Amino acid sequence: MPDPAPAPSDPLAELLSLRTVLDEIGAYIYAKDLQGRYTYVNRRVLQLFGLSLDEVVGQDDSVFFDLAVSDQLRQNDHYVLETGETVVREEVNFIRTSGEKRIYWTVKKPVRDKAGHIIGMCGVSTDITEQKATAERLQQQQTLLETVLNNVDALIYMKDDQRRFVYANQKVAEVFGRDQAEIAGLRDIELVSPAIADQFWQLDQHVFATGQSQAGEECVASPDGKLRHYWSHKVPFDLAGPTRTLIGFSSDITELYELKEQLRLQSITDALTGLANRGHFFELAMQACSAAQRHQRPLTLMMLDLDHFKDINDRHGHPAGDAVLRAIGRLLQDAVRREDFVGRVGGEEFAVLLPDTGIAEAQALAGRILTTLREQHLVANDPHLVVTASIGIAERQRGDLGFDALYSRADHALYDAKHQGRDRIGVNTPD
Ligand code: GH3
Ligand code: MG
Ligand code: MG
Repeated sequence: MPDPAPAPSDPLAELLSLRTVLDEIGAYIYAKDLQGRYTYVNRRVLQLFGLSLDEVVGQDDSVFFDLAVSDQLRQNDHYVLETGETVVREEVNFIRTSGEKRIYWTVKKPVRDKAGHIIGMCGVSTDITEQKATAERLQQQQTLLETVLNNVDALIYMKDDQRRFVYANQKVAEVFGRDQAEIAGLRDIELVSPAIADQFWQLDQHVFATGQSQAGEECVASPDGKLRHYWSHKVPFDLAGPTRTLIGFSSDITELYELKEQLRLQSITDALTGLANRGHFFELAMQACSAAQRHQRPLTLMMLDLDHFKDINDRHGHPAGDAVLRAIGRLLQDAVRREDFVGRVGGEEFAVLLPDTGIAEAQALAGRILTTLREQHLVANDPHLVVTASIGIAERQRGDLGFDALYSRADHALYDAKHQGRDRIGVNTPD
């Protein structure tokens, strides 16, 4: 069967179906005459006013809006009716029934008769109050976030897995000596030295490889050239996109680091002479013994004890004795090579470890030390007093495990030197 011919169009039916569509649209649609009286409103407008179409048509806006404060509405209507131009702009209106302030995105157009005369206007207003409020809230949050990020006493940044900075706060900019806006988009190697950038990358890479937060110490040379230390926390923080990103928080711990370093140095240094203390000397000696064993190299230990030091203290006072100890420390340090270790291992007992050195060489060095000591006058108020010392020397033996055996043999050699009359060298010779 052929298709039935389309029914002739019925203008009324068309108008009704158009109205149904207008009623479903989520915007306010209305038409007004030249006097500002409503000639049509859609269902949305009726819902806003809480009235029926009959109650609205023929009324002007003074019934529905608080025109004293909804000035924009009146101005826009007048403008369209007087100029015949279309108005597209934001409009703030105050609803009389609810007392609410609403913001609309409004389009108002003139309606003309066949002759082109303006006979009214029609408009479409979309309520953007919530949208505006959301945008404002977002803006406030953004401002808050920026204020916090730029005033917090930490470096905060985002980086991707191509070593590129996605974001950097003001503190990062200060540390890198750049403008904040310059940093985003640059790779770490474009901002800091390769060694420092590689150190950043180590921790970054660990975050990307494990997908887990990582923390560690990092350092950066500040614009004044000083190396500053940071404790960094880096957390995976993936943005929508093909590259992986992390967010980093780094706090300046330079003062803490320096304090820790100072404490570490204090814990290994003898306060009076500045030499390695007993604990540290023994640690170094054990390492040197292992290295000598591994590489089959000679290693010699020299123990030095001042002679009759008790008498110096008794006669000239403890501070004078301290001054002598400091002078001996300097003398030993000056006498040895860079690779030798000097320590104060007891009250007036010193030890010198001589890597790659045999007994004969050590003996020659000990002789020079005793000679230098004899030539000095270390006690200020007794310029004729000569301070002497006794030295014991021993060399590491092939079968020695650890440092104890060598220490004990050098100590025996020292005892022999004391026993034989002091101010001399005792040598431990292997059996
Ligand atoms: P010897 O020749 O047998 O070594 O005699 P000595 O008097 O040097 O030996 P002894 O071990 O009997 O005495 C060591 C003295 O060193 C005792 C102590 O008063 C002194 N002494 C130890 N530590 C310090 C110190 O830090 N400062 C000062 N001024 N004297 C110290
Ligand atoms: Mg002693
Ligand atoms: Mg002594």
